[in-house]
Amino acid sequence: MITINPLANPKGVKLLCELCQKPAFVQCTDCRVTYYCGPEHQKTDWLGIHEKICQLLIPLRTPIPFLGSEEERQHRKQQQIVRQTQMIELCRTEGQKLLFEGRYDRVVPAALESLKFSIEVYGLSSIELVPSYLILGEASIGLGRLSQAEEYLAQAQWTVLKTPECPDSIKSKLFRNLGLLYAAQGNYPDALSQLADDIYHSSRVHGTDDIRTSGGYFHMANVFYRQNKLDVAFSLYNQVTDIWFEHLGKLVGQRTKTPAEPSGIGPAFNSGVPTDFDVLDEAQEAEAIQVVNAILDLREQQTVQTPAVMCKIYFTTAMLQFILGDMPKARDFGIKARTACESAVSSDEGTMSNLVEFLKAVERFM
Ligand SMILES: [Zn+2]
Ligand SMILES: [Zn+2]
Repeated sequence: MITINPLANPKGVKLLCELCQKPAFVQCTDCRVTYYCGPEHQKTDWLGIHEKICQLLIPLRTPIPFLGSEEERQHRKQQQIVRQTQMIELCRTEGQKLLFEGRYDRVVPAALESLKFSIEVYGLSSIELVPSYLILGEASIGLGRLSQAEEYLAQAQWTVLKTPECPDSIKSKLFRNLGLLYAAQGNYPDALSQLADDIYHSSRVHGTDDIRTSGGYFHMANVFYRQNKLDVAFSLYNQVTDIWFEHLGKLVGQRTKTPAEPSGIGPAFNSGVPTDFDVLDEAQEAEAIQVVNAILDLREQQTVQTPAVMCKIYFTTAMLQFILGDMPKARDFGIKARTACESAVSSDEGTMSNLVEFLKAVERFM
């Protein structure tokens, strides 16, 4: 809840707005460690990220008492760094999730928060700041503020260039964002070249068939689509579908396989329901929804549909719904996939039997 607490600003202490760094006049009454220029920015911050981190900020912004032995002080300092690092992770995942959901105006507070903590932990010129700049850049692209996006991305690019040991995972994200920026500016050739660099660096660290690489293919497909180069676009969309199909198939498999009967003597290690599932984090979940739905829409709009292709995207959607826990939708799309598979020219028995098993599993979870 948002309540306004006008600040009796003590002399000599300059309190700054969490969002815009202008002098602050109100305080969050829940944590009492966060300040704003006015109710407007308090509300924006609350909706974007503060609601999730309000209480977590209290230990982070309460000064560490200068007490105890050197050892105890070191220990408290370490604890503080762990908390700050968790905060960076939390705010970034939230920002990334909001990006995939297309709620760009809400991304900014989360990304700024992650940037602030990154600066506290790593200093001003560290490569660790780049992911936050990239989220801010992508949000600005989404909001149509292209010159602001350029500034954030320039900041990111500058940091990457002067960091020879910059990891490929960060380079890949930088090139992806530059690709999105050029695409938004209508500069398709440069967009494609940046996205190709994204895919190259992502493949080096994650492999070519990883969901973290598939975003590059997806954005490339979108550029070709806008250029009306539909053959290339759809072959890339197929590649993206295949990657998500494999990944979701693995996740569904982990959740539906019945555990093997313990054999032989000795303790039964594998008895009971397996619990070591791989999961999609919130951002990956939002990405899966965005990407799979976008491709499904495009495929359904096509006047000429290939049953095998439709079967695959329906099956992928069904598995995504299964992972999201929406069993009625999982069943509906599973049935659509089966119908498409039945009308395919060459019968694909492997897919068909997988589908039958999948639909049985869905019934068990209903
Ligand atoms: Zn403000
Ligand atoms: Zn608060």
